[in-house]
Amino acid sequence: MAFVTRFAPSPTGPLHLGHAYSALLAHDMARAAGGVCLLRIEDIDQSRCRPQWEAQIYDDLQWLGLNWPEPVLRQSDNLAAYDRALSKLDQFCYPCRCNRADIRAALSAPQEGVLHAGPDGLIYPGTCRHRSLAETTEADAIRLDITKAMQDQSVSYCEGSTIIQADRAAMLHSVGDIILSRRDISTSYHLSVVVDDAAQGVTDVVRGMDLQEATKIHALLQRALCLPTPIYHHHRLIRDEQGKRLAKRDDARALSKYRAEGATPADIRRMVGL
Ligand code: GLU
Repeated sequence: MAFVTRFAPSPTGPLHLGHAYSALLAHDMARAAGGVCLLRIEDIDQSRCRPQWEAQIYDDLQWLGLNWPEPVLRQSDNLAAYDRALSKLDQFCYPCRCNRADIRAALSAPQEGVLHAGPDGLIYPGTCRHRSLAETTEADAIRLDITKAMQDQSVSYCEGSTIIQADRAAMLHSVGDIILSRRDISTSYHLSVVVDDAAQGVTDVVRGMDLQEATKIHALLQRALCLPTPIYHHHRLIRDEQGKRLAKRDDARALSKYRAEGATPADIRRMVGL
């Protein structure tokens, strides 16, 4: 099977050196394997995405010397596909009306012990788990009941040639019942990324190590939706001098800033160690 990967930025700010590393690495791997690297715009959160950032993504990537097949998939154009996938998961889902303060309060109860976070923030304590989808209201988000979705089997995926596995206890402890559809956005990062990777025939996902925990959720959703699980390659993160991971708001490392200062794409490659 041909190697198909993708670079999937969200247009919520300028691309920085960390994005450049991820995009260049994915393209280099695809080229070395005689495959293809797609570009996907992950813009489901319309309250944070801006057309100007999307335009700059195309511009920055072209400047870096990257190209991709057209048309580019924009997740905001694909919401119906995520709705269809969500409805296939009904048997594992429940409505949830807890906000962050409710979750924090429930977790602070003496019997719950130390607060710890998973890929989506605090691990949900399961307060609404007894509720049924039939009683969903406008004020509810939809959560995945991890215990039900796992059906007594561990989840697994390949990190390169290494098999990573998580059993139900590990998933409950480190991931918890994640949100699949929010009140304001009818899908979630986890659901849309899994649907799109499968629809676009992605065989290999190249992305930062910050998404490694989330991959267990993706493997679980792929199994529940009868979708193939790609091979994952989580790469090191580009950090600043203080060792902190670069963030979108970290304009100082924006590619556009290096461009304006006269850097070349070769300089960017050197800066990220490629
Ligand atoms: N849209 C995500 C981001 O900008 C990347 C998701 C992925 O590669 O799976 O961080």
